[in-house]
Amino acid sequence: MFTYWTLFFVIIAYPAAIGKGREQNFIEHLFDKRQAACYNEGMISEEKLKILTESAKYDVSCSSSGSGRKNGGGMGNAAPAGCCHSFTPDGRCISLLKILLSNRCIYSCRYCPNRADVDVPRASATPEEIAELTLDFYKRNYIEGLFLSSAVEKTPDFTMERLLAAVKLLRTKYRFHGYIHLKGIPRADAGLVSEAAKYADRMSYNLELPTEASLKLLAPQKSTESLLSPMRQLVKEKAEFKEEHKKGHFLPAGQTTQLIVGASPEPDSRIVRLSEALYQKMGLKRVYYSSYVPVVQDSLLPTLPVGQLREHRLYQADWLLRFYGFTAEEIAPEGENLPLEYDPKCAWALRNPQCFPVEVNTAPLEMLLRVPGIGGRGAYKITEARRYAALDFSDLKRMRIVLKRAKHFITCKGKYLGAKDERAVKGLLALGARQDEARQLSLFDEPERWGSGGAGAAGMLSGAGEGRTLSPAVQLLGTRETALAALTGEL
Ligand code: SF4
Repeated sequence: MFTYWTLFFVIIAYPAAIGKGREQNFIEHLFDKRQAACYNEGMISEEKLKILTESAKYDVSCSSSGSGRKNGGGMGNAAPAGCCHSFTPDGRCISLLKILLSNRCIYSCRYCPNRADVDVPRASATPEEIAELTLDFYKRNYIEGLFLSSAVEKTPDFTMERLLAAVKLLRTKYRFHGYIHLKGIPRADAGLVSEAAKYADRMSYNLELPTEASLKLLAPQKSTESLLSPMRQLVKEKAEFKEEHKKGHFLPAGQTTQLIVGASPEPDSRIVRLSEALYQKMGLKRVYYSSYVPVVQDSLLPTLPVGQLREHRLYQADWLLRFYGFTAEEIAPEGENLPLEYDPKCAWALRNPQCFPVEVNTAPLEMLLRVPGIGGRGAYKITEARRYAALDFSDLKRMRIVLKRAKHFITCKGKYLGAKDERAVKGLLALGARQDEARQLSLFDEPERWGSGGAGAAGMLSGAGEGRTLSPAVQLLGTRETALAALTGEL
């Protein structure tokens, strides 16, 4: 008898239990542990927790979320909602509980899955529930902070009061010193906004759409002014707080915002100009870009998602604005989108051939920063090293400068190793941007197999004979040998 039960347990019951465990998402996993450890009647229910974390996943103004991956027997998994990561002002990556206080909304922003007229499960948590949940997860080391947002429930003031109550409870009653990112509610009372800023590390108002006209069409209850006015108020109050050397905190991690890309027809040039203005006038820490994904059907919205490459190009452009001294005008000419085939820095360099090549041993730092393939750190290393000796290409390679790109735009001791004409440079630079057929080379791919078109990047390039169409950029490369040399950096 004992043997049969042991066999049953080992062969059927235990593997089944393990399998079930693997299918649980992160929130279920946390909730189970929490229930086992300290469940009591006053705590937020599992169903409510699922609804409120699931509803928060479309907000990307903290850095990562939205990926779902089951644990296939190894270590770790990813859940599309629940936890996300953000970066503190000192660059540390921290995990946050990402949750809405409520997904009951009186507004009808057309792109939003929580809008008033959509039939989805609804829930609201109390400030106490949010505070207890945060503390509970924090104590167990699941999270290092909270990202708290909310739909507009009843009125903007009602919602803002509850958000404020939740963060106030955490800071005062529970003496929680972890990171808190709080979403502001447009049109809420200015006094509530000021008060919330004393408890949160960071606040954000999502502009969502780049023009007033698009807001009117797609989010009629919001206006640019209703979103910019609390942002301006916080900028002013933070400056006063600093000037008066008051005690306590006032938004030490500043403000951020989010823009949806592709839900409305504005080109990238408009979005980049708006970001530039927000950085300059509002002192925002980050502008986040979220490529539009059709989660609800609406005749005024595109039916297809906007590719993530466009979002990626905007992040690259954003980087150029913040750290490389570019202006929006230089990055994206009026009325244009960012080219998808080249990163924005390459695109600028190709539009301005008169600025190149630059001599790395004498060029000012600002010009080095504009060379494709030379990043901020690389430019700094070059300016430091050349104080002691003139640099050549092997020195740059040791500094991990991406010579594959940079060599078309620089000289070292007067020597130029780049392609001879502009057409060839364009083809070589566009290569890295090709996403459709690009594949990471495996360490174990044999060079002779590349030519078959079945494996390796060079095989990919030679695949035209097998019915594939090469992009115009790749056609520019001419021969397979040229393409291989470009891939390996020999050209
Ligand atoms: S205010 Fe607009 S974006 Fe926010 S939850 Fe409501 S409908 Fe969605």
